[in-house]
Amino acid sequence: MPPMGEFDLIARYFARPGPTAGATVALGIGDDCAVLTPAPGHQWLVSTDMLVEGRHFLSTVSPRRLGHKALAVNLSDLAASGGSPRVCFLSLALPKVDEAFLAGFSEGLFALADAHGVVLAGGDTTAGPLNINITIMGEVPHGQALLRSGARVDDDLWVSGLLGDARLALEVFRGTVSLPGEAFDAVRQAMELPQPRVALGRALRGLASSAIDVSDGLAGDLGHILHRSQVGARLHLADLPRSSVLGGMPEDLQRLCLLTGGDDYELVFTAAAQDRSRVLEAAREAATPVYRIGRIEREPGLRVVDGEGRLLDLTLQSFDHFKS
Ligand code: ADP
Ligand code: MG
Repeated sequence: MPPMGEFDLIARYFARPGPTAGATVALGIGDDCAVLTPAPGHQWLVSTDMLVEGRHFLSTVSPRRLGHKALAVNLSDLAASGGSPRVCFLSLALPKVDEAFLAGFSEGLFALADAHGVVLAGGDTTAGPLNINITIMGEVPHGQALLRSGARVDDDLWVSGLLGDARLALEVFRGTVSLPGEAFDAVRQAMELPQPRVALGRALRGLASSAIDVSDGLAGDLGHILHRSQVGARLHLADLPRSSVLGGMPEDLQRLCLLTGGDDYELVFTAAAQDRSRVLEAAREAATPVYRIGRIEREPGLRVVDGEGRLLDLTLQSFDHFKS
């Protein structure tokens, strides 16, 4: 059999049979441009994220999980903005046509896309070092996007889900920590199969005063909210939600994973203290656990306190591609 070419590859793994046009996507894969129709009264949210081998994922990840994660990190950005995901575009550089890889990758990607009603409406495919870029588009009612800039003094600070497991898994891969098989599988799943908090983000429209997704570590990403909102915050270390696996680790490793971990893909958000029960109701509606972890303060900067309310002296380093 002759080697598969670019167009056969797209046709086999990415252009799916069936109706090619829907309410949003008037025309998908196959022409020079996709044609999209926005819903009346809505704005587009657009975000793009690139995954590079060795930087964002290890060669040990299965193709299926990689396909999942490539889309999940993009959905997480949409979630943080309160958007309803609609359409994505996939730009792929592949060292060679590896059909086992393509089959697994596209399966993982489409499983998550289908779960969120996202249509793959185009992309680009080229030979080169493995590199995956997805652009995602979603909709939000006009003026209702959640932003980083809206936190107010005395707002509650909240986070969804669990923090730090993905970083713990990375430490196992790096050989600095060892875990028994079952515990390792659990934290590895957090690293390789993050669940974007799309339903929560949508439920927080008109309720959260600011939001961001945690991709580079809680301290750093919360720092973006504080900076853009021109406020500070007090964070209660003991209240940060963690798995029983991470909770069993030494205290300094827990701090590292919880505060600077990265790859969590949880939402950090602020809301007025009077809206506490509404936030809990929104979380229930979204079937996503949320935890109150601190408070917004006037004084700039981030202060982390321990269970006794003592200020911790921490030098926090969030992930930065050009520094780490
Ligand atoms: P052009 O040369 O006009 O840019 P391409 O030959 O790159 O078009 O792509 C042909 C069609 O296939 C386009 O509709 C494009 O959006 C789509 N496409 C290319 N690569 C992918 C991919 N990896 N996933 C989804 N659609 C893709
Ligand atoms: Mg092209």
